[in-house]
Amino acid sequence: MQAPVQTAPAASPAAMKYIDEFRDGALARKLARTIAAEADANRSYRLMEFCGGHTHAIFRYGVQDLMPENVRFVHGPGCPVCVLPMARIDQAIAMAAEHGVTLCTYGDLMRVPASERRSLLKAKADGADIRMIYSTQDALAIARRDPERQVVLFAIGFETTTPPTAVALKAARAEGLKNFSVFCNHVLTPPALSTILASAGPDGVQLDGILGPSHVSTVIGSRPYEFVPQQFRKPVVIAGFEPLDVMQSTLMLVRQINEGRCIVENQYTRAVTPDGNPKAKRLMAETFATRGSFEWRGLGHLPNSALRLADAYADLDAEQRFPVTAGEGREIKGCECPSVLRGVLEPTDCKLFGTVCTPDNPMGACMVSSEGACAAYWSYGRFRPPSPKKGAELFSEPSPRKEKGSDPFLAGGGR
Ligand code: SF4
Repeated sequence: MQAPVQTAPAASPAAMKYIDEFRDGALARKLARTIAAEADANRSYRLMEFCGGHTHAIFRYGVQDLMPENVRFVHGPGCPVCVLPMARIDQAIAMAAEHGVTLCTYGDLMRVPASERRSLLKAKADGADIRMIYSTQDALAIARRDPERQVVLFAIGFETTTPPTAVALKAARAEGLKNFSVFCNHVLTPPALSTILASAGPDGVQLDGILGPSHVSTVIGSRPYEFVPQQFRKPVVIAGFEPLDVMQSTLMLVRQINEGRCIVENQYTRAVTPDGNPKAKRLMAETFATRGSFEWRGLGHLPNSALRLADAYADLDAEQRFPVTAGEGREIKGCECPSVLRGVLEPTDCKLFGTVCTPDNPMGACMVSSEGACAAYWSYGRFRPPSPKKGAELFSEPSPRKEKGSDPFLAGGGR
């Protein structure tokens, strides 16, 4: 792959306006035929979708079933709940228990297993004041309502959810809220991608191309991925979340690979620009600084891969205001989440999948989160033997499996 690196716009689906058009079965059939015709039968195409939102789109709409055998999707670590190490959840529980704070966080984090089979939900049942919120503004509202209580926002997510946390920090500062602070666990996409690509080898995952995140890229833009073709000689296509987006992006990757090109292309031109959202990036730069090192589940300690509060906001840092001693955080025996997150194993390679571990009784974060790969396999049932309806008839939206008590935690996405 010798072609120069450049960020190139893709052919835009400009005529498409409504969401249904991005789920059109006839167009899907046409795209599937084109991919099958253009994919070289003498090679394989292993394409990592970094983002859990893409994993769920692929499983929900049966996109993998429409691909030829040699075009395979490899699931990446782009699920913020899944990559959060247990020790951080242990730390949050300790903060609520030892300091009596009101801990606010998003719903799909509530049931993620912590050490010793605990979770935020179980800690809440044991009496800790842990509340599920829908936005950072909910946490601010709780703090305003009860000035006597210390309210901690347990903030997680990639670059997509970092700007709302920045807005909350600025609002708290402007209002002089003394009882609000942030337990910051925001992480950065490019270092994780770099680690995955650098680990290619006998113990790592072999990849031919990357489907880049869409929501993250609306904030940071497409330029930050240019290191992928430059350093790793792999093509990247920023892909939208709808099934036709994923399929068009797949075709773009297949073409780059066939033609020996290696650049960053942007399929999701209706939302992503080369430089992203300048206002969001400015807010983040004002309120956060890069951590020297941060632990990711499955990837280990990665340098410069996460954010902490900027020095100017250190007084709103819950880690400084409510120090706790965190243990190592022990994964549940048999859970393969770390390998699933690196793309080395598929959920069905885990012995606990669908037996001990289901969304109703999750053993690992990948089965809990609305963006987890194990939840995607289970919810849409595509791990079962292929249907005789193989082909475009699979390009319909199946009803997600209903697990008792699981629905409230299968909402959200794209963090
Ligand atoms: Fe972990 Fe459950 Fe997934 Fe196995 S099936 S890797 S136990 S979340």
